[in-house]
Amino acid sequence: MRIRLAFLLPCGALAALISVLIAIPEAQAPAFDLVIRNGRIVDGMGSPWYRGDVAVRGDTIARIAPRIDAPAARTIDAAGKVVSPGFIDIHTHARRGIMQVPTADNYVRQGVTTIMEGPDGSSPVPIKPLLDSVAAKRVTPNFGMFIGQGSIRDQVIGPVNRKATPHEIEKMIALVRQGMEQGAFGLSSGLFYVPGTFTPTAEVAELARAAGRMGGIYISHMRDEAGGILDSVRETIEIGEKGGLPTQVTHHKIIGTKNWGRSVDSLKLVDEARARGVDATIDQYPYTASSTSIQAALMPAWGLEGGREAILKRLATPSMRSELQKETARIILEERGGGDPNNVQLARCDWDPSLAGKRLGDVTKGRGLEPTVDNAAATALWIVEKGGCSGIFHAIGEDDLQRILRHPATMIGSDGEIPIFGDASPHPRSYGTFARVLGRYVRELKVISLEEAVRKMAAFPAQRIGLADRGVLREGMKADIAIFDPAAVRDLATFERPHQYAEGVAQVIVNGQVAFEDGKMTVARPGRVLLGPAAHP
Ligand SMILES: [Zn+2]
Repeated sequence: MRIRLAFLLPCGALAALISVLIAIPEAQAPAFDLVIRNGRIVDGMGSPWYRGDVAVRGDTIARIAPRIDAPAARTIDAAGKVVSPGFIDIHTHARRGIMQVPTADNYVRQGVTTIMEGPDGSSPVPIKPLLDSVAAKRVTPNFGMFIGQGSIRDQVIGPVNRKATPHEIEKMIALVRQGMEQGAFGLSSGLFYVPGTFTPTAEVAELARAAGRMGGIYISHMRDEAGGILDSVRETIEIGEKGGLPTQVTHHKIIGTKNWGRSVDSLKLVDEARARGVDATIDQYPYTASSTSIQAALMPAWGLEGGREAILKRLATPSMRSELQKETARIILEERGGGDPNNVQLARCDWDPSLAGKRLGDVTKGRGLEPTVDNAAATALWIVEKGGCSGIFHAIGEDDLQRILRHPATMIGSDGEIPIFGDASPHPRSYGTFARVLGRYVRELKVISLEEAVRKMAAFPAQRIGLADRGVLREGMKADIAIFDPAAVRDLATFERPHQYAEGVAQVIVNGQVAFEDGKMTVARPGRVLLGPAAHP
């Protein structure tokens, strides 16, 4: 019927009809879904900023040009602001919180669009159930994982101090392979922690080699970040060398006042390794305090062997308890205690939430004791007996922090988590890491340039884990974008009042969708589970 009608129409009328039919869908579908105009583009690779427009179609950066006038469903005026790739956080413990707060506000509000889990040797084994539940939950940032050496050893051997048998090593290697096949980006270790600390270097290298053969990297919370820092950096380099894979010192820092300054030598070790062809890199968070459990930080490894029951048994044996207290006092003086019980702050105590935020010296006083180092050590052991707390340890040198930050092989990683807003007294790094680098270390202290900071937060971590389509503002890349005011961006979270979001980020776009703007998270949950190089999806 329609064809006959067309035949009956004069040619000119037919052409007009066709052009109307074509014009209508064209008017309904502009060339781009989003154009960001007038921004200062910082591409993530370290190049100086330039002025231009960025156009997004679907989940992809479709065009970047000095000026894009084509019609767009939406435009954002970024005049006076920086347009950069969304930040990639290579070290997070986001499984603490991602299910309760799938929007990950603390990260996204800083411009973070990808978070990596499973560092410090700690991940679920296998990783697939967590990846599946994150995918099912619909989260805001992209989410990727490492597989943890400590968790694997715990599963195969337990938290005990002994060598693995050849059969156990085979089993552990099989679990590394399984992790890589399920989407891990590499193997993490936490050789400071139980049971990682009981692992000989050669065993770690064997597992690392398995991950490396499948395209993964090795990333390590080292055995000792205090007095043994240089040997630990050497070990991390050796594992990369023997394992034949890229190796990374994670959250590099120098703990303990008498060790401050040693980053001069630790960085030299990294430089020398790189010069002879070892692909060794670093990540770091911009704070002079660390955070982990009180027991891991303040008790020696031998006191922690065998799990909770074994620990309680030791504490109930007077001779062992006094031995442990002596060691803990030494650690307060020389290592994570920063030489003063009040440099130890409690972050979260499930058995007594009122202790969150308090200093160890004050808690000691609260127990009717003089806040001496010995009494503080006794209080620390009392805390472990009661059920433990997480803590914050003010014992990192600022000069070392800045020296490490300036190093070209250093990228940024928060080591944070996804806090429940207002709950407990967590380390402010979860809320502030990226904004703090841009506000304090770029704008105020001028330790590094803005472009260098963005490189350390975007292209560098992306390249490190092999994310070829993120971390750079370039046509064809995924549209993960942060728009921020370089004059205003700053962290507000402090050790006293950690629950404060960063300021100065205007919009955050994840996979082409606006996830944060006007100070609020949007309803979009565009995050994806990212799979590593050996995954069979
Ligand atoms: Zn760590």
